[in-house]
Amino acid sequence: LPTAASGKVVILGYRSVGKTSLAHQFVEGEFSEGYDPTVENTYSKIVTLGKDEFHLHLVDTAGQDEYSILPYSFIIGVHGYVLVYSVTSLHSFQVIESLYQKLHEGHGKTRVPVVLVGNKADLSPEREVQAVEGKKLAESWGATFMESSARENQLTQGIFTKVIQEIARVENSYGQE
Ligand code: GDP
Repeated sequence: LPTAASGKVVILGYRSVGKTSLAHQFVEGEFSEGYDPTVENTYSKIVTLGKDEFHLHLVDTAGQDEYSILPYSFIIGVHGYVLVYSVTSLHSFQVIESLYQKLHEGHGKTRVPVVLVGNKADLSPEREVQAVEGKKLAESWGATFMESSARENQLTQGIFTKVIQEIARVENSYGQE
């Protein structure tokens, strides 16, 4: 029988970096141009990885800045994070560093999978953050780094597949499920 793991993943980052677009591309398989500032939206999706099923609860958030206080619901019961900045915004990258610190404090010693995403990589001419900077930051956390574009289904799938694999790995290492 396949194992039935489940987990909650929260997408965090500065506003307008593409959080909603990534969630929408992953869940619906399409990109829409319109800008709709999200309040908060939760998706449920059953993701098949090999012969295993993973019940994903995905929370798309309204966006944070360096002064945001993360609500408990973004910490307690959360199994993994997708931290998104835009490669076209240095400020959005700086915000990520402070968000990570807050997550880290919130979770204490518990290891929680994080995927750092440099989105809007299709807008290279407007780039303000080099891939190597994202890679270095993720490495300093022991996290995974990816550049992506919410226009590209394959790249977007890669982000969520990665965070789910990491969650499954952590759960297995505790001998749960
Ligand atoms: P959020 O506020 O972080 O949820 O950002 P949205 O998903 O609402 O996206 C903000 C704007 O950027 C929208 O106009 C999107 O169409 C656009 N956008 C999001 N992701 C990408 C991307 O990867 N490439 C490009 N070119 N535009 C994007």
